[in-house]
Amino acid sequence: MPELPEVETVRRGLQPVLEGATIALVEARRPDLRFPFPEKFSQRLTGKTITALGRRAKYLTMDLEGGPVLICHLGMSGSFRIETADGNDMPGVFQHDRSKSSNHDHVVFHVVSPAGARSRVIFNDPRRFGFMLFAEGPDVHPMLAGLGVEPTGNTLDGALLASLMKGRRSPLKAALLDQRLIAGLGNIYVSEALWRASLSPLREAGTIARPGKKAQAQSEHLAEAIRSVISDAIAAGGSSLRDYMQTDGSLGYFQHSFAVYDREGEACSKPGCSGHIERIVQSGRSTFYCRTCQR
Ligand SMILES: [Zn+2]
Repeated sequence: MPELPEVETVRRGLQPVLEGATIALVEARRPDLRFPFPEKFSQRLTGKTITALGRRAKYLTMDLEGGPVLICHLGMSGSFRIETADGNDMPGVFQHDRSKSSNHDHVVFHVVSPAGARSRVIFNDPRRFGFMLFAEGPDVHPMLAGLGVEPTGNTLDGALLASLMKGRRSPLKAALLDQRLIAGLGNIYVSEALWRASLSPLREAGTIARPGKKAQAQSEHLAEAIRSVISDAIAAGGSSLRDYMQTDGSLGYFQHSFAVYDREGEACSKPGCSGHIERIVQSGRSTFYCRTCQR
């Protein structure tokens, strides 16, 4: 499942082609992906100008002049490919490789830029867990309505994080993965942020919201770690977008920057720490952490 930074790199790659463009035609080549396409899917998009391409958690949102908003989710294996007169591009940086087989091209957006340049933006999804739905406005769709705060930008600070964790008895990692509290934070980046903040994924979430300077410092450190781990990953992806097609096609480079994720048995890389990275299972999912420096 792509994580928030991967979705954001896709958004940034699509933005120059889609924002301001007018949709000349949409081909939906099958009746459904994870869900059936909305009624009159193509008709409601055709002729519309795309005023903004946004992101909420792991959802891409395409604002159309006069409405509606198109909500896209990449699912497990979805990707977009851009075909222009200048060549092709697959925006975004993914931990797992994306399909290049046109057998799985399920939706094709034919768009025209304000300058008249024609492009095709193609949604490819071999496993078809992705979806496209309409909403009448941002945050109106039930899938978006209950989402918590974004871990990007400066909104999530220590005080807000402490207020979200206050009184929670669940493990800290589980609370951080709760999409109603923080939206779009996934398994990989929670492990990374907890390591940066030297906090155990097993501790009770509410402990970082207790009165006193120690808990205050912990919540501030963790909020900073969450924001920086996400922004570092987006920056790493963004920098490779331009020359992506010249590389060997390998998309799995995010993991090189992971400090703990998928590094079971390796020495902890925190200065002064002699511990090793362990893998444990929490709520059925892998957690990687160093019990020596994460308390
Ligand atoms: Zn350590």
